[in-house]
Amino acid sequence: MTTAIFRDALYLAHDPGHSHVERPQRLEGIYNQLDNPDIGEQFIFPKAEPASFDILSLIHNKAHIERIAQTKGRTYDALDGDTSTSPDSYDAACLAAGAVVEGIRMLVDGKADNCFTLVRPPGHHAEQDAAMGFCLFNNVAIGAQYAISKLGLSRVLIIDWDVHHGNGTQHSFYDTDKVLYFSTHQYPFYPGTGALTETGRGKGEGYTVNVPLNPGFGDEQYARIFNDILAPVARDYKPQLILVSAGYDTYVNDPLGGMTVTASGFAYQTRKVLELAQEVCDGKVLFTLEGGYDMEGITNGMLVGLVEMLGRTTLKDDILEKLSTTTCEFPGFNEARQMAGATWKME
Ligand SMILES: [Zn+2]
Repeated sequence: MTTAIFRDALYLAHDPGHSHVERPQRLEGIYNQLDNPDIGEQFIFPKAEPASFDILSLIHNKAHIERIAQTKGRTYDALDGDTSTSPDSYDAACLAAGAVVEGIRMLVDGKADNCFTLVRPPGHHAEQDAAMGFCLFNNVAIGAQYAISKLGLSRVLIIDWDVHHGNGTQHSFYDTDKVLYFSTHQYPFYPGTGALTETGRGKGEGYTVNVPLNPGFGDEQYARIFNDILAPVARDYKPQLILVSAGYDTYVNDPLGGMTVTASGFAYQTRKVLELAQEVCDGKVLFTLEGGYDMEGITNGMLVGLVEMLGRTTLKDDILEKLSTTTCEFPGFNEARQMAGATWKME
């Protein structure tokens, strides 16, 4: 397996302010692990170009791009109640979107089997015209639209397992069947979107699949959703590329989220997505970092995922067996499966 990892010191330079939870340390843990030659030498580390105005314009309007560009070199700018910038934030945000674009190009060109962009700032809350929820540009949405507009793809699946709903991503593709947006998230919760009944509009009807969840769910519940809702939807949609908004704020000790996922759960989720990608799109999958605010949770979550991407596993046989075959029942599951079943063939 050739697994491409995008990392850069610039992603650590974005600083939303002292004591902000979306801090550079979120990436330092995994970067330190990759600095260990025994770990790092198993991957390739391509370089990305910052996303140009034209690439950012695939999703964002001119006023928004200019608003973010104006923060360059400025000590501090507050863009909304919890989203702010430092002198290098604009450059970091352009490079984060650029990494997703370059990663997708590599997958489509066959230069990598799978890819993880270890970037900040995150993206899935960013709207066409606004920064929001720690996000400046919507990295995953820009990547998906790039794959469609510039590479000619017609079916891209975005899986968003962050504890928060990716409002910006959903809105970017609400009217189209070229992107299927699938999200698991705590609900009701920030940002307020992601109800079961939000399923898309017009040509996009059925191409948004939301799985809103009460707090308290962990490895087994997520495994059940991936096995018995996500998998049949993905098999029926047959995407040409899978993008994952990988958030680690479902971790049991996360200070923002209320879920109970452990490193085993993150390994299994990654594994299941990789397995589906093998089945439907020749393994082509790109993971990009979104949230995750417990340093141990995010570092280990990404690390066990990277092991899966290399074709190995950290999961013990009995845990893998349990998560692969779980039939656990919990509030929200049947409703979400039924709703997805209105459009997609359930096995
Ligand atoms: Zn989040």
